[in-house]
Amino acid sequence: MKNVVIVGLGLSAAEAVKALVDKLPTEYRLVAITASEGYWPIASLRAAVVPGWEDKPVTSVDPIVPKGSRHLLLKSTSVVELREHSVVIDRAHSELGTEIPFEYCILATGSSYPWPCRPEAGASIEEIKTGLRKLQAEVEASSSILVIGGGPVGIEFAGEVAAMYDGKSGRSKKEITVVHGQDRYLMKDDGWKDGFNHSIGSQLDGLGIRTIFGTKVEDAPKATGKLAEGKQTFRLSNGQTVSADFVFLAIGNSPNTQIIKEFDAAAVNEQNRLAKVRPSFQLEGHDQIFAIGDIVDLPESKIFVNAKNHGGVGAANILSLIHDASTPTSCLKAYKSGPKIMIVSIGPKGGAGQLFGFVVGSWMAWIAKSRTLFVDAFQKTYVAA
Ligand SMILES: Cc1cc2nc3c(=O)[nH]c(=O)nc-3n(C[C@H](O)[C@H](O)[C@H](O)COP(=O)(O)OP(=O)(O)OC[C@H]3O[C@@H](n4cnc5c(N)ncnc54)[C@H](O)[C@@H]3O)c2cc1C
Repeated sequence: MKNVVIVGLGLSAAEAVKALVDKLPTEYRLVAITASEGYWPIASLRAAVVPGWEDKPVTSVDPIVPKGSRHLLLKSTSVVELREHSVVIDRAHSELGTEIPFEYCILATGSSYPWPCRPEAGASIEEIKTGLRKLQAEVEASSSILVIGGGPVGIEFAGEVAAMYDGKSGRSKKEITVVHGQDRYLMKDDGWKDGFNHSIGSQLDGLGIRTIFGTKVEDAPKATGKLAEGKQTFRLSNGQTVSADFVFLAIGNSPNTQIIKEFDAAAVNEQNRLAKVRPSFQLEGHDQIFAIGDIVDLPESKIFVNAKNHGGVGAANILSLIHDASTPTSCLKAYKSGPKIMIVSIGPKGGAGQLFGFVVGSWMAWIAKSRTLFVDAFQKTYVAA
């Protein structure tokens, strides 16, 4: 049996699996290797605050690989080494052992971000839900919240806390401070307009959230949560101080490209640590290895719609190569970078965005994202097509 190995089973990989599972010739099988269950970071921030939401950002990956088929799903398993024609995993599989040869490989390892933005590798669904419930209780028991990082993740978490603890129905308001290293929420150099920033700023002001720009928290805690020692005072690099009894880390996003770098450093952009790919998603210099999703070095937003589209293109190209291994790269399907778009939710009713160059306010953000956080779409991710 020839293997098509898929490393990681997030949003981009799930799309690739769906496109391949019924179309691979019978002498090929998928070997999907994942460290984690299905997780929806987009709803994780609300799930860390609002009781009842802990079920929404997590689901089993099991249904995507049909039981009893020739395809294999290796869960709670990490790829620790990439080779030209095989991967090495951290725990032996009963049939495959620890080194799994492949005809084609898709790397879809996404990015790391501190919990609860991403789950701990290997955490079970129950452990994730329990962890989210614990955070909800800690937020409730806190009076002052320090959010470190004022990009989209920090803004969204602060917005969720302020919307939930609005001073009504016995839910007393929290003192929320966002400390942001930049001098505006979303950078002009990245293409985000003044109007987008103003809309975010005025909504956060309206919720009583204070943002301190252009400075960093010194000696930030290593994890998100309520401080065991109670309220602490944190020094900022500009000399100011902020006191808080709960800290949320909205910094530390980093692409999971270490195994690629160790395999071939030239295939990773040194500046941003993203994988260099051709328009076909073949890893630069390696025709049988593909990289998709958040790890690829493309001039587009790191959003789930783009990640999903990568999965379809990568899978189509693998099918073409299986059909005719001599297909030149120039004849493979070429991906065109997706649009530069973003919607930042601010609680379940607010938010702002920039879509195709136009700034949109809270009503459009509510319709498009904030009220549902696309949970229904996520819950269908691992259901067989
Ligand atoms: C807090 C947060 C909020 C976000 N909000 C939005 C939003 O509002 N809208 C939007 O469109 N996008 C949002 N995103 C981005 C979106 O989640 C990503 O674009 C998307 O998840 C990328 O999918 P992916 O398949 O590349 O990687 P992921 O979905 O991250 O999946 C990667 C998978 O690979 C596994 N893995 C990693 N390394 C290994 C290994 N060595 N071996 C085996 N498995 C491995 C991981 O455990 C994980 O399951 C947000 C992201 C975060 C963190």
